Amino acid sequence: MTRVVWGSATHTGRVRQANEDAVLTTGGLFAVADGMGGHQAGEVASRLALDALAEAFEQPGTEVLVAAVERANLSVVERAATDPTLAGMGTTLCAMALVDLDGRDAIAVVNVGDSRLYLLSDGVLHQITEDHSLVATLQRQGRITADEAAVHPQRNILTRALGIDATVLVDSWEMVPVVGDRYLLCSDGLFNEVDESRIAAALRRLADPTEASQELIRLANDAAGRDNISCVIVDVLDDDGRDRAAAGDSRITRHSSPADPELLDIGSPVGAAAPVSDAVSSGTARGAGRRSMATSVLTWRVVLFLGSLLVLAAFVVGFVWWTGTHTYHVGVDGTQVVIYQGKPGGLLWIDPKVAETTELQLADVPAASRAAVSAGVEEPTLAAARTYVRNLLDQHEQQTSTTTSIIPPGPAVSSTSTTRG
Ligand code: MG
Repeated sequence: MTRVVWGSATHTGRVRQANEDAVLTTGGLFAVADGMGGHQAGEVASRLALDALAEAFEQPGTEVLVAAVERANLSVVERAATDPTLAGMGTTLCAMALVDLDGRDAIAVVNVGDSRLYLLSDGVLHQITEDHSLVATLQRQGRITADEAAVHPQRNILTRALGIDATVLVDSWEMVPVVGDRYLLCSDGLFNEVDESRIAAALRRLADPTEASQELIRLANDAAGRDNISCVIVDVLDDDGRDRAAAGDSRITRHSSPADPELLDIGSPVGAAAPVSDAVSSGTARGAGRRSMATSVLTWRVVLFLGSLLVLAAFVVGFVWWTGTHTYHVGVDGTQVVIYQGKPGGLLWIDPKVAETTELQLADVPAASRAAVSAGVEEPTLAAARTYVRNLLDQHEQQTSTTTSIIPPGPAVSSTSTTRG
């Protein structure tokens, strides 16, 4: 039977007013959560997530642990939806648990966000989890270097967190427990202040897990302590008779989460985590700015895309409205010639409206123009439409006078009344 011993410590740090981190240590389940959101919402999110995780982790299995993280996510989402003061809160969650794997003990690891799990094995520190942050994604894709990531202006933006959406992608691993292995769960307040070579040295130096946790907190606060700092250390005392040789290369198995759209081309899955090189572990302290709310890169892309669509739709609607209301045509209302505002027959949902009536009857319109007027004669402005009508009246009056002149002398009104019907 696998036996472990553990210790933990958490601290507000030297800058923040409150500690939004939370830790969980039970006999078989260990976790760190780093909450975010204003007005104590971060504290609520991290505590709520770990309480929900512990409650949902009913049986020691990897799938159960993943499901418990999903349940914890829903708890945060549902709570935020019912309390306006907590809207927008979120949290990271990194956990490990002793589980049963085909009848043997195993260690299951789950992660969402940028809290981390490290393994110290044979004195060498390995980062097991991958950060779900914008800069970590860019770094994995080879777009920026570690040095650029350390000073990147958007280094506090997460690509995954609990509490953002009803569904969450959970990374998971299964590891063979080996006597002498030491696991470290921690929030970013530690590794952003203390480089990994110094973390490894402290883990090697102090055997007691509680003392080692407190020492890591002290190192982070000595550096600057700009963020909350949390550590959980778990030591494997008994490995159920399994040793490193028996475990072989397969001691770490990564279970890929479903396709992760915001993390395209993140590289090959981790079969065995690469050791953390002391040379690489230069200082990675972030800026002192408050951690920003978790924002998915995918979400922003979707928002930008939908925003562009909305702008385009608004432009089209505006163009149709302007075209449908800022043109005129001369047409017929019953037997009366009128000036309409709008296109003949209308344009989409915009029907033409009578702008002016005229004293002209369709029957008075010269025969050559009558069909055109019946169909509607477009004019760019109201003035142009009036001019067109005036021309029709002039033509009509000329025809009338011409008709009158060739009619034998008699009352002029008779010809007028004849023509006008
Ligand atoms: Mg933090």
